[in-house]
Amino acid sequence: MNPAHPSLGPSAPRVGVIGAGQLARMMQPAAIALGLRLRVLSADPQDCANQVVPDVVSGHPGDMRAVLDFARGCDVVTFEHEHVPADVLEALVATGVPVRPGPGALLYAQDKAEMRERLSGLGLPCPEWTRVTGPADAADLAGKTGWPIVLKATRGGYDGRGVWVVEDADAAARVIAEAAERGVSLLAEAAVPFVRELAAQVARSPHGQAVAYPVVETVQRDGICREVYAPAPAVDEAHALEAQRIALTIAKELDVTGMLAVELFQTADGRLWINELAMRPHNSGHWTIDGALTSQFENHLRAVLDLPLGSPAPHAPLAVMANVIGLDLPDLYPAYLHCLARDPGLKIHNYGKDVKPGRKIGHVTVLGDDFDDCVERARHAAAYLRGEIDE
Ligand code: ADP
Repeated sequence: MNPAHPSLGPSAPRVGVIGAGQLARMMQPAAIALGLRLRVLSADPQDCANQVVPDVVSGHPGDMRAVLDFARGCDVVTFEHEHVPADVLEALVATGVPVRPGPGALLYAQDKAEMRERLSGLGLPCPEWTRVTGPADAADLAGKTGWPIVLKATRGGYDGRGVWVVEDADAAARVIAEAAERGVSLLAEAAVPFVRELAAQVARSPHGQAVAYPVVETVQRDGICREVYAPAPAVDEAHALEAQRIALTIAKELDVTGMLAVELFQTADGRLWINELAMRPHNSGHWTIDGALTSQFENHLRAVLDLPLGSPAPHAPLAVMANVIGLDLPDLYPAYLHCLARDPGLKIHNYGKDVKPGRKIGHVTVLGDDFDDCVERARHAAAYLRGEIDE
């Protein structure tokens, strides 16, 4: 038995998490409540989960030996990010430790072209798209959809890095040439004239149980998620059900285990278009820590262990989550006094990360029933904590 967890029963499983950022960190309170052991694979001693998880194995997710050493003694291995090479995943599976989600599912969260191909094949709503081997592919697509179009790195993008909206053939050719120089594969897709972005989250376990969280609206700026409204304001029942149906269908057809987030665009006519997938807890579900009976982190752990899933029901009519994005205030803590005193209803989550401009360093959640009030309070606290305002 792990001496760091003397009170756990001898059969309490150990869940290995590849990655040790804030998503792994936020799994730990759920693991504590369930009496599970977590082990994280951390590529950097500064990783913020290392502060709260006693069992840290150092190593890069691309280092096969490190990953296999890490997996030894785990009852299941899961992820907080998708950046694990296919050969490492295969070797991991070959050890016999359950890997959830499995490589066959994870591929569609790793590679946007594979994802587009598979989801289009399932008849699910994707923007018109093509793989790009040269400028002619982009021009051909634009011939059908009109400019602008969107070029995307098929792999490795996050927070908007790896996405280029191009207005004409010259701009497209420049992006394509630069990508070729760096060995980056691209796809091109129609620019969806969306009026808002939504996310549908589901948890699914290996025996096929699934639960769907309320569909949320996400607000991004400069490619980074800023705010999440749960449920999405004024979403009509049919569209919310459609978004949940899409997420449940993807989870089942791709055999996803754990949490799945489907990022969606909604156009003015109400229609939904799939943007991308994440097979892990996701920023669009941070509100569930304070706002739902079972958080996405708890349901991720339950799902990868094939335990019965918890209820995704919300506690309040409305939850608003605002990310705290680093600016130039190096320390969040002194700002607490003001924020906590001003609003005892705030739930503040600090990730324990060094502040860097543009980096997600925490989030704030407010529950209530008045949209404008909740947004004002969450937005104020997030702005104060990052040092953007001082009253
Ligand atoms: P990342 O993987 O970096 O999160 P996304 O694929 O989610 O990248 O794209 C980032 C942002 O770019 C989206 O939130 C959206 O605002 C914009 N975007 C992406 N694809 C399209 C599209 N087809 N049409 C219009 N905007 C898009």
